[in-house]
Order: sequence, then structure tokens, then C-alpha cells
Amino acid sequence: MKGKAQLSANALTVLERRYLKKEGGKVIETPEDMFKRVALNISEAEKKYGKNDEEIREIAEKFYELMISLAFLPNSPTLMNAGRELQQLAACFVLPVEDSMESIFETIKNAALIHKSGGGTGFSFSRIRPQKDRVLTTGGVASGPISFMKVFNAATEAVKQGGTRRGANMGILRVDHPDILEFITVKQNNEELTNFNLSVGITEKFMEAVEKDEHYDLINPRNKEKVKSLRAREVFDLIVDSAWKSGEPGIVFLDRINEKNPTPLLGEIESTNPCGEQPLLPYEACNLGSINLAKVVRDGEIDYNYLKDIVHLSVRFLDNVIDMGVYPLKEITEMVHGNRKIGLGVMGFADCLIKLGIPYNSEKGVKVAEQLMEFIQKESKMASEKLAEERGSFPNFHLSIYPDMGYKALRNATTTTIAPTGTISMIAGVSSGIEPIFALCYKRTILDNEELLEVHPLFEEVAKARGFYSEELMEKIAQKGSIQGLKEIPVDVQKIFVTAHDISPQWHVEIQSAFQKYTDNAVSKTVNFPYDATREDVKEVFMLSYKLKCKGVTVYRDGSRDSQVLSKVDNK
Ligand code: UDP
Repeated sequence: MKGKAQLSANALTVLERRYLKKEGGKVIETPEDMFKRVALNISEAEKKYGKNDEEIREIAEKFYELMISLAFLPNSPTLMNAGRELQQLAACFVLPVEDSMESIFETIKNAALIHKSGGGTGFSFSRIRPQKDRVLTTGGVASGPISFMKVFNAATEAVKQGGTRRGANMGILRVDHPDILEFITVKQNNEELTNFNLSVGITEKFMEAVEKDEHYDLINPRNKEKVKSLRAREVFDLIVDSAWKSGEPGIVFLDRINEKNPTPLLGEIESTNPCGEQPLLPYEACNLGSINLAKVVRDGEIDYNYLKDIVHLSVRFLDNVIDMGVYPLKEITEMVHGNRKIGLGVMGFADCLIKLGIPYNSEKGVKVAEQLMEFIQKESKMASEKLAEERGSFPNFHLSIYPDMGYKALRNATTTTIAPTGTISMIAGVSSGIEPIFALCYKRTILDNEELLEVHPLFEEVAKARGFYSEELMEKIAQKGSIQGLKEIPVDVQKIFVTAHDISPQWHVEIQSAFQKYTDNAVSKTVNFPYDATREDVKEVFMLSYKLKCKGVTVYRDGSRDSQVLSKVDNK
């Protein structure tokens, strides 16, 4: 296997810290060795489908080339664990939580096992009976979903994913659960549920009640009885107020997610993975992978032939990952092999737009988003059909929506997901997922107190070519956080190099919606607001994301949380 990876110093640091094999604390693997290990391991799945050693070797070469060129990267657990003892390759899991002590504590144990292997877990707590409800066996009173969530949180804290990855959870509560008000406000206290992202599960019924300014019913999940009713607008305003204050909770449109559930006969989707991009049935897992869109621009245009090759090879890769993965529970193995969901997505979208000379916040930007994703969606389905001819459809195909849609065969119940690509985009050295660039110049703290000025590589290139590059100007931009209105910088450059905060929340939602239109699963996206944004601004974005058919939305108002994971200075 030939070829060396073009990695930035930053990428190397990330790899050394968390991905490369170590012995006695010393790194014993090069990045090339890592990609080789992954390519060889993932190509081994081909054996099951009758390929001979030579054919497998050829496929391994192709997988290696795909990753070493940074045109595609699988999610972190695949890079970390393929060909190693753990062999747990999926990033996303959803586990069921029933209304019993056995189920609750069994799930805590299973979540701990998944965290240890680098996966993230999502749960719906909607089945748990509300606080102060009856407990029949003891005659006592119930503690309610939120108190149990705190136990999940403590367990996650203790595991810390074996030092490679932080344990991440998604907690969902339906808007008609009697404890919903407490759920909405619980994270306004920064100390609570630190290992959880929270989302309110919104129903169509609730949204209609909001629109008509009506009341809606809260239902006890234990006996399906109505507990009381609330004014929908007041609850909606409380979600908005809380999201404005702390960025949480987000919202997920549960009915909308279920409208697109590819296997409704196997059950209802109640939760997503931690970052919201992957709705899954209980006990289902999914592995993700992302195409680097910055790589598909050739001479100022998208090279669709190249992109097509990447999509087809990536689908094959991700389908192989399903077979090579070892899952922590028998139930998960069965679900995963039954539906064979994969999530192919993108990273480097903002960089791709810059290379095309198109502003992110423009009709043209939205158009490119739609064209790219429509193409990826279509090709991924073709690749999955072809694989099905070779390997058979996913076993639950006949129970899925696809035969009615005219499909004769399909290998995977879903093919597309837009992941956040938090770490793999750092390895590839491009903008994450479909997010805009966060900062053009920023200071990174190294060796505790020394500061290094980092300039976005495409910006540096343009600044030098157009003759406005200087250390002082870059320092100034790092301070200011934006180039908008800087007289030293040509207006056409200002338009193209827009950062997250230069872009109005409406454009964030438009781009999310453009990608969602052609994505089977969901889209990970944060809508950024400036510190002085109002509650009304947040409300508008919630309503817009509903109108534009997003599956959920997450907002973040700058400075609203004590510790911000990303900030203008020191964002890596
Ligand atoms: N995830 C996790 N812990 C982390 C980061 C991610 O469990 O510290 C899971 C989570 O389910 C998330 C998914 O991995 O939704 C994908 O995240 P991302 O794309 O950022 O992962 P990457 O592959 O870039 O590491």
C-alpha cells in the first residue's frame, strides 16, 4: 500500500493522542500504518461474500487510497478499533429504557459497555412513570425520569470511555410526559447532566396546539391516563427561554422522524444518538463515514465522476464495517444485521464552497448543498442496490418501506447521515460537517501558555495571492473574529470567507434543510446566535426549522454557557 497522508501538525497531535496504537505509552504506529490496519481489516468482510485473497487485496488497496487521500474517513471508533482487540466500530447506539428498575439499571450497564468502546448512546426516558407516581410493589412514590438520568450521568462520568473518547448521551423526553417542565429547565444549572445532550420530543399534535394557541394533554406512560393539560405556547416558550439561556434543550420532531422510519413494522423510533444525526430503533447501532467535499473541487468545479467513485466505494466500506464490527450485546448484533443501516455524510462543505467561490449564506450556497446531497443520496442508493445484487438485501427488506417504493433489492435500510465530524474533520484538516468556518484566524494555546496564531489555509492562500497578507492583519482578525467590514480586505473576499457568526441564523437553517431534503437519517447542525440575540430570534429559528422540514434543531447563543467547547480563541 503506497501513498503518504498529508496531515497537519494538528491532525498528527490528534492521531497520536487518541488513534494510533501505543505500547507502554509510546506510539508504535504511523498514520499510514493506521490506515493500512483499517483497510486490511474492513476488506476482510469480503471473504464472507466469496471474494478470493487477490480480490480482497485489491479492495484493501482501494480502501487505503480512499482514506490516505483524505477523500473519505469512517467515524472515529472504526479508525481506532478496526484490526484491534476491541473491534467495536460504530459511533451511534440507542438503547431502550422501560419503566422498571431491571430495565433502567440493565441499560445503565449496557451504556457503560458501549462508552468503554467509544460509542455514544441515546435513550428515550418517556416510558418511565412520572415523579410522585405510584410504585406498586413497594407502595412508595416514583422518582421520575430526571432522577434516573442523573444516575446514567454519574455512570458515564465514571467510565470516561477508557481515555479515548468522552462518554456522550442523548436524553429525550416526549413533550406530553408529565415531568416535561422539569426536563426543559434541568440544564440551566450547569452542573447537571454534564454528559447529556437533551432534546424535547415534539409531536405534530403539540405543534398544532402551539399554532392554534390551544392546550394539550400530559399523559402518564404507565397507565396512559391524562394527568393534566398545559397551554402549548407556554411550554414552547419555556423551551425557547431555556435554549436561549443555556443552548439546551434542543428539539426533535418525533412524528416527522417516524414518517421516514424505513422499518415501521419493527417499531417506533423514540430516540437519536448523542449529536442528533442518527435516529435509531431501540438496540440499533449505526456506523458513519464522511466524504471530504473540499477534495472533490477540481479547477473551481465539482468533479462529479470522482464524487461518484467515492460514494460507491464508501458505501461498500461502510457495509463491510457492519460485518466486521463486534457489538457489546446480542440484541444489538441482531438489530444491526437485520437492518444494516449505514450513515454516509459529508465534511468540508464550507471549504468546498470557498473553493467554488460561493458564499455559505446565499441562494447559490443552498443550491450547491441540495445538488451535492441529492447526488450523494442517489448514488448511495445505487451502490446499495448493487451490493444487494451481490450480497442480498438487508434481512428486514420485506418488512421495510422500500418494496412499496419500487425497490427490488437494497442492502441497507438507510444510507445517508450528516455527522458532526468533530474529530475526523480535524484529521482531514477541513471544516466540520456542513458547518460554516468557525474562525479565519485564531490563537491556539500550546505548551500551556505559549500562543500560536493559526490562519485558515484557504484564507492564507488568498490573502497572499491578493497581496493583503500581514501578521498584524491576521492578529487583528483573530481579535475581531471576522473580516466583515475590514477595509484592508476586498469585498468579494469578505463575501466568501464568512464565519459562523457572520451568518444569520436563517441561513444556518436553510443549509440544514437543504441537506435534510436528501438525507435518510438526520443532519447534525448547530445554529449559532450572537450573545445579544433575543428569545424571539430563537423562537423564529425553531419555527423555521419546523416549516423547512428539519428533523430537529440545536441552537447555541455565544457566551451562554460557562464553558464553551468551541470559542473564537483556542478552538482546537
Ligand atoms: N461520539 C461520542 N463521543 C464523542 C464524540 C462523538 O460518543 O466524544 C459519537 C456520537 O454518537 C456522535 C457520533 O459519535 O453523534 C459522531 O460524532 P462525530 O462525527 O463528531 O465523530 P468523529 O467520527 O468525528 O470522531
